[in-house]
Amino acid sequence: MSLTMKILIGMLAGVVVGAAINTADVAFLNEYVVGGFFAMIGTMFVNALKLLVVPLVFFSLICGVAGIGDIRLLGRVGGKSFGLYIFTTAVAIGVAILLAQLVGPGQGFDMQGVEAGGISAKEAPSVWEVFANIVPTNPIQAFASGEMLQIIFYTVLLGVAVVMLGDQSAPFIRACEYMNEVMMKIVSIVMAAAPYGVFCLIAKTFAEQGIDLFVPVMAYVGTLVGALFLHLFVTLMILLKLLSGLNPFTFMRKMRPAQIFAFSTASSNATIPVTLQCVTERIGVKNSVASFTIPFGATINMDGTAIMQGVATVFLANVYGIELGITGYLTVIAMAVLASIGTAGVPGVGLVMLTMVLNQVGLPIEGIALILGVDRLMDMIRTAVNITGDAVVSTIVAKMEGEFDQAVFDDPNAGIETDHDLDIDHAAEERLAGEARRHPRPQPAT
Ligand code: ASP
Repeated sequence: MSLTMKILIGMLAGVVVGAAINTADVAFLNEYVVGGFFAMIGTMFVNALKLLVVPLVFFSLICGVAGIGDIRLLGRVGGKSFGLYIFTTAVAIGVAILLAQLVGPGQGFDMQGVEAGGISAKEAPSVWEVFANIVPTNPIQAFASGEMLQIIFYTVLLGVAVVMLGDQSAPFIRACEYMNEVMMKIVSIVMAAAPYGVFCLIAKTFAEQGIDLFVPVMAYVGTLVGALFLHLFVTLMILLKLLSGLNPFTFMRKMRPAQIFAFSTASSNATIPVTLQCVTERIGVKNSVASFTIPFGATINMDGTAIMQGVATVFLANVYGIELGITGYLTVIAMAVLASIGTAGVPGVGLVMLTMVLNQVGLPIEGIALILGVDRLMDMIRTAVNITGDAVVSTIVAKMEGEFDQAVFDDPNAGIETDHDLDIDHAAEERLAGEARRHPRPQPAT
């Protein structure tokens, strides 16, 4: 059985077990199984993914820049992906607002009994600040705190200098290529635990989220999920077909593991290792493009999150009976696009961005309390949309720049994880052990 199949089974089993625990509502299960065991395994699994992100981005990006070699091509990849990311996000939220206007969720909503929940608005950083912050003052700090745009900036700068130094850089590039391989191997090791990790994450979420949370805001949830699916299956796939000519069905099938990871973790950032693996090994985007566009997209491209902002603003405007008008909605589009550039893809960040948007157009922030209860599940779906958007843009740019391997795309078995990925090369192990015996390390003098 393929690993994707196993993960899918883990996910479905998680839904069933989680929903059953939620219905049973037994204190022991809630406290020790859900809050204890599931939470522990789930957190360990997400942490294991996150620990890979920074070194993987660093080494693969160095290899990517060195692989491109040509600095002009690097500029083109950067420019095109940035333009497409902004474009897709703007289209996503524009369509979401139109759809929400048509459906009209929140009209006639009774606000009685809704607690404000002590939510406070966050000030949006200015565009200038967002761009100025891309340049780190201290790379170690940027790496330690996982500031993705700063890490990308520093690594690309380093990569460019390495390329400029020419032959002198060969040993360094070889070392980075080797480290990149090692990191990808660790991804395989972590992936082997994925069916269990995904099971625990999903079971915990479904055990905690009762179905009754959804009833009062059904219209919001329905419109949002509709808009997310419209973007995922129609807008993005039309764009992929038009700009790259590739088959959308094959693309979707190959993206499934990354989508499941995004759904389970609700974090584009934590999913970077899996998205990178899917895009390079299953879809055929060369590392020279993917190593840049995937981490870049995880930070600046959030189509699903922007869709949520659009639907939520229309919903809250209806609930409060406030007319935003064309200028109001244009402001929402601009704010959501800008906010997505500066914010990292981590769970729940969409709500923080929503406070900025609401603040800007003068809608009451307390309204967020209405949608808070259902946000985790919505976050999971929109994160899967976010990373699919990253992969679509990455594929289009790779295709445009001739950095695409059609044979990989056409091979249905390319990049499928098997148990062999975890095989140990016993002959090599013997050799290394023999070498260690022949050259014993000097013992420290006592
Ligand atoms: N969790 C989302 C992501 O990581 C961001 C959000 O919508 O909250 O892409």
